[in-house]
Amino acid sequence: MSPDSAQFSLPHVVILGAGFGGMNAAFKLRHAQCRVTIIDRSNHHLFQPLLYQVATAGLSPGEIAAPIRHILRGKNIEVLMAEVQGVDTEKKRVLLEANRTVEYDYLIVATGSRHSYFGHNEWEEFAPGLKSIADATKIRKQLLCAYEEAELETDANRRTELLTVVIIGAGPTGVEMAGSIAELAKKGLHREFQNFNPERTRVILIEAGSRVLAPFPESLSESAAKELQTLGVEIRVNSRVQSVTNNEVSLDGEHIRAATIIWAAGVQASRAAKWLNVDTNDKAGRVPVDKFLNIAGHPEIFVIGDTALALDKDGKPLPGVAPVAIQQGKYVGKRITGMLQGKAQDKAFHYFDKGLLAAIGRTYAVAHVGKLKISGWPAWLVWVFVHIAYLIGFRNRVLVLTEWAWAYTTYQRGVRLIVEQKE
Ligand SMILES: Cc1cc2nc3c(=O)[nH]c(=O)nc-3n(C[C@H](O)[C@H](O)[C@H](O)COP(=O)(O)OP(=O)(O)OC[C@H]3O[C@@H](n4cnc5c(N)ncnc54)[C@H](O)[C@@H]3O)c2cc1C
Repeated sequence: MSPDSAQFSLPHVVILGAGFGGMNAAFKLRHAQCRVTIIDRSNHHLFQPLLYQVATAGLSPGEIAAPIRHILRGKNIEVLMAEVQGVDTEKKRVLLEANRTVEYDYLIVATGSRHSYFGHNEWEEFAPGLKSIADATKIRKQLLCAYEEAELETDANRRTELLTVVIIGAGPTGVEMAGSIAELAKKGLHREFQNFNPERTRVILIEAGSRVLAPFPESLSESAAKELQTLGVEIRVNSRVQSVTNNEVSLDGEHIRAATIIWAAGVQASRAAKWLNVDTNDKAGRVPVDKFLNIAGHPEIFVIGDTALALDKDGKPLPGVAPVAIQQGKYVGKRITGMLQGKAQDKAFHYFDKGLLAAIGRTYAVAHVGKLKISGWPAWLVWVFVHIAYLIGFRNRVLVLTEWAWAYTTYQRGVRLIVEQKE
């Protein structure tokens, strides 16, 4: 917190959030003539696209997360673990808990998004979403405990309930989760239980829209749906959830009893619009930004990633995906570096769309890259390559590849541990 005086006189860039956007901005600023402070409520950077594998016992938390302090060690970057509570844009300072403040010359807001239960926050208790390591280990525990309880259960109806998993939302996270759970049940638990067959697990994937993987081309949605069905997943499209209570999901005229219910249906931007006192008509609460990713009237404040409402050249909002946050982080880091050097900065942000990927089970994926639409094993290889390439840390890359190679040959999940107390 107390840089030497020469450093202290340098302009101060404060980054809120050490996710994909914040970290990439920090990397770009590491040689710039400035002090950088990055603030996050967690002590780790998390690779969210692989969270579902932690939730389904394929990977352990340490393989997809790394301490922010370690990643940024030895740079001109101060790391603070704290909850951001607001921003005073007049006095140019960030408000933290315990009345702490951090002053800035430039501010990058990259605090991502959280689950949205579409006005039904009471559902969260019964249908946890997946956003953090804590969420993933909670879901893993619930899933594994249901099997342990099923082994003890003598009532057939209750056992069926214990062996039913409902996933709400068939976007990439819901689809990946459904495929992974179905595969675990079919192959990963083979011959491990005496009193029931884990293959009897029902995995039900519910989607309000008309198809799974809506952002993908229709042909790839169909391939994904077929592969899910091969794994035994029941898909309900055009089905709107009416209520979620303890162990029960109600759709139009149907009540499904399930011990495990997972929410993968919606996201809401962080509270940045409120902190920055910006009006937003966006349903997800994102902060509107201009072509330089600034908020109106504040060239020193940038908002990026899932929290930003940035438009593409056709005026459509950019999607809430990692490549958008990464590219925006790099752009803003570069832009501030140029501003610090007094160079004219007239290059607007342009998103380069590298495509979409989703994996289903251990060897199948769908990929839409440019005009190319591929599914099956070749798409899965692309998926593996991309995920390994973007994982932070050589150690994590090696560990994850080893886990995948093991799972590929044996179907075994390395991390089927229930470490928390049973409730
Ligand atoms: C389960 C899951 C699967 C996904 N799969 C894919 C995928 O396959 N491909 C893809 O491209 N995208 C995927 N995404 C989306 C992708 O992860 C996000 O688009 C990306 O992480 C957005 O980056 P960001 O920097 O805006 O926010 P994040 O990466 O979410 O980072 C935000 C950071 O801000 C911190 N933070 C938030 N609020 C506060 C606060 N008040 N105070 C302090 N710190 C705060 C958080 O701790 C976090 O570290 C997935 C997301 C999830 C949840």
